[in-house]
Amino acid sequence: MKLKWTTKKLTLVIIPDAAQPVVRFRISHLLAYIAAACFSMLLLILIIACALQSKLNGVHQQWKATLTNKNLTIEHLQNEIIQLSQQAEQMKADVEEIKKIEKDLKSISLLNSDSSSGKDIPTIGSIESDPALGSPGIGGGPIPASQEEIMKLGGQTLASFSELNTEIKELQTSFRATKQKAAMKQQQLRVTPTLWPTTTKVVTSTFGYRKDPFTYRPSFHSGIDFGAKENDPVFATADGKVVRTGTDRFHGNNIVIEHSKGLRTWYMHLNKILVQTGDLVEKGNTIGLVGSTGRSTGAHLHYEVLKNGESTNPKPYLNATRKDD
Ligand SMILES: [Zn+2]
Repeated sequence: MKLKWTTKKLTLVIIPDAAQPVVRFRISHLLAYIAAACFSMLLLILIIACALQSKLNGVHQQWKATLTNKNLTIEHLQNEIIQLSQQAEQMKADVEEIKKIEKDLKSISLLNSDSSSGKDIPTIGSIESDPALGSPGIGGGPIPASQEEIMKLGGQTLASFSELNTEIKELQTSFRATKQKAAMKQQQLRVTPTLWPTTTKVVTSTFGYRKDPFTYRPSFHSGIDFGAKENDPVFATADGKVVRTGTDRFHGNNIVIEHSKGLRTWYMHLNKILVQTGDLVEKGNTIGLVGSTGRSTGAHLHYEVLKNGESTNPKPYLNATRKDD
């Protein structure tokens, strides 16, 4: 009874054309069900496969886009590493240039005791392009850089920047010290009598032994005589304080200025004194006029430099001229 339905048959009729005979198929119910089930299963599998394929395609496209983006990002970062490494090289060259400027500055200002000139050893990045050649062209074979090489370059660049950071800090300290030394040197120069006291450079009598112009006997001349004309200006040869003005039969009208480190300058035989005791004067100020007062044979300036009260040869001090000369 149970297998009754399996014996039943189904008849499939195919009518191809009116003129042709009808084709009949007789199949059992069981076979029909199996065929229908197989067809349904096949259809289902096909639908699932299509859906999966579509899903996979979407994921693949998304992954491909992500990969492309990542590759572009990596390429961009690699180019930035290369650019940074080039910047590091340029900065090295700049730092070397700054070091050279500081060295020159020390040399000019005589701030460095070790100012011996030696040939600088060329350093990395010190080669400069010739501006006359304009913007130089670049080229070469297309050799792609590997990831390892870029990573190595990145490491080297990082080390270069670290090194540069240290060097810049050292330079800052060094420049501060140089600035301080330069300021001290400037101040020292201001209070050192380096200026010529007259507009004329004519020296009529030097420091040392000579025949006295009055007695014609050997005598010691404790200063330098400048053959200036009467009423020519007499300049303070350094910043200082007027510590004495006066007149006597030997020195005539005279001025003494105190500067620094026990240095004083003495200006004699003036026709006129233009400062007073206690005045603060600056290097180059006019303090009097040339004359022939006191023990003098004619208009001139007798100029002395005293170190700790002792007359010393003024000549080594006379190495600067007035700005408006
Ligand atoms: Zn003299």
